[in-house]
Amino acid sequence: MDTGALLVILGKQGAGKGTQCVMLSRYYAIPHISSGDMLRSNVRQKTPLGIKAKAAMDAGELIPDEIVTEMIKARLLQDSAISTGFILDGFPRTVSQAKALDDYILPNKFDAVINLDVPQAVVLKRLASRRVCQDCQAVYSTSMPPKVNWTCDICGGEVVQRDDDTEESILRRLELYDKETYPLIDYYTKANILKNINGVGATEVVLKRSIKAIDSALKLRKD
Ligand code: ADP
Repeated sequence: MDTGALLVILGKQGAGKGTQCVMLSRYYAIPHISSGDMLRSNVRQKTPLGIKAKAAMDAGELIPDEIVTEMIKARLLQDSAISTGFILDGFPRTVSQAKALDDYILPNKFDAVINLDVPQAVVLKRLASRRVCQDCQAVYSTSMPPKVNWTCDICGGEVVQRDDDTEESILRRLELYDKETYPLIDYYTKANILKNINGVGATEVVLKRSIKAIDSALKLRKD
């Protein structure tokens, strides 16, 4: 079975995962599967999952592992994502989620786990000024707004501050990142698939760094 690329992206809130994933998903022609986007879409559509998850998300708490794992597994079964490749963003976020994913797809099947590395001071600044399109999730900032009156340049959707981009929630999410998600760096280093990418710099420059690392992993797989 030939796949595009099987990728996971890790990185703190505000590291630029969403922006990089949109570009990587175009470059490798693979779907961008974001647990946060899926949950926010459930919240907007007021599904039972969305109604249950909203308060925890706004407060920056994690959704229970089993619920998120089921949601992602169901998504991976759609349009044969596993055979065509994908980039997973926001999942796994805990060691328990990584183990659940292992039961499904062995770590050595992944081409790379990208760790987008950005210092805390930089992410805090980015998060405070971040604005996103409610419809297509394109990311803007107060210093780089859309061209016309907070209307998305790409899809015309409304560009807003996320409900969980409050100071309190941002600090809680960063705290949980260190406690729950950071151990995954060790987990995937041991599996020999972690690629550390410097996430500071222009988006195109960061993209080139990621592509270089992924392409060398893909070449190794083909050789
Ligand atoms: P961020 O990385 O900025 O916190 P995300 O869009 O990845 O944003 O996630 C938003 C929220 O959705 C999280 O704070 C959490 O409540 C929930 N969430 C997303 N992915 C997961 C996950 N894998 N496990 C548990 N909760 C999750």
